[in-house]
Amino acid sequence: MAELPIPAVNAVGTNGADPSPSGAVSDDALTAEVHDMVIIGSGPAGLTAAVYAARASLEPVLIEGVIEGGPTGGQLTLTTDVENFPGFPDGIMGPELIQNMRTQAQRFGTRFVTEDIVKADVTAEPITLETASGKSVRARSLIVATGAKPRRLDVPGEDELWGGGVSACATCDGFFFRDKHVIVVGGGDSAMEEATFLTKFASKVTVIHRREELRASVIMQERAFNNDKIEFLFNAQITSIEGSGGLMTGVKLQDTATGEASELAADGLFLAIGHIPNTWLFDGVLETDDEGYLIVDEPSTATNVPGVFACGDVMDHTYRQAVTAAGTGCRAAIDAERHLAGSEAVTAATPEGSPTPA
Ligand code: NAP
Repeated sequence: MAELPIPAVNAVGTNGADPSPSGAVSDDALTAEVHDMVIIGSGPAGLTAAVYAARASLEPVLIEGVIEGGPTGGQLTLTTDVENFPGFPDGIMGPELIQNMRTQAQRFGTRFVTEDIVKADVTAEPITLETASGKSVRARSLIVATGAKPRRLDVPGEDELWGGGVSACATCDGFFFRDKHVIVVGGGDSAMEEATFLTKFASKVTVIHRREELRASVIMQERAFNNDKIEFLFNAQITSIEGSGGLMTGVKLQDTATGEASELAADGLFLAIGHIPNTWLFDGVLETDDEGYLIVDEPSTATNVPGVFACGDVMDHTYRQAVTAAGTGCRAAIDAERHLAGSEAVTAATPEGSPTPA
């Protein structure tokens, strides 16, 4: 379960060609044009939107950020085997899956910018974005696919053992903990769900929660309480994660009521302490729900600002799967295309594989 960062695949504007062999758009082309569509985000949602938009001849510009929203290529690049993405019966490595999507998007004419966006003005036409190096990018439509970051504990050992036992995705990594003891930290529905799911593999699951009461819904709590493999440790805060040879061996704890310190041996730790959607670029402009996720006008992906669409984990706190993110990316591209055409009739959904009307 080693962490496999996706290799840096291109750089911004290294020559005048457009697009370059790696798909990088030149500085001139990037800043001179008003692009039909800019997509921020290089995970499954953004890349799927790019495939659809590029096939519709919109020549989308995809901004693959490098620092702010997480790794280039998104959360999938931090996992190893992906066994639940349809079409890969033998599984596929997360970074390879993302690279394949990127290659596919590039093949149809997507142009890439490898830089963070530091500022966005979506209230005027055209939409204007500013990159970290100060370039101005203008667009008629914007797809926000910036994802969500799993909230971290921020304790010693967390970074070092990420992928060596520490994970934020039981669906992705639970399989690797067959007959092992794993910890789930958190007291919400995600923690209950992850703990219950992990009992399919693990011999024992300990849920560690910082308070005496769970936040999770009663039904989810009951399901976990009734599972013989799940134990609960309340009023406990993890203070550090211990490991040896790059693999986790346990955690150090502090009782939040008494302050007493203790240790617990375990092979894995799953963080289920919530997610933080990457929406700060649009604070106060794009509407969010109570948890900070972008609100879209279901079943479309339209946000409250015309011409701005959202897909993937930044607008979905329910499913958070690569395949569901890809699905919303497809929807966002079709929605944006219809917006640009100014008429639903012109860009009505076409059968899979047939050319999209211009
Ligand atoms: P959540 O409800 O916000 O719960 C996060 C949990 O993590 C809380 O118990 C919180 O403790 C704890 N926590 C937060 N920061 C922490 C820290 N630094 N150290 C230790 N513990 C920390 O998040 P969620 O469980 O991911 O759920 C998010 C939303 O998705 C909810 O609306 C939930 O109902 C929904 N959801 C639904 C389902 C389902 O219905 N199948 C499944 C998953 C999620 P405190 O309680 O002390 O604040």
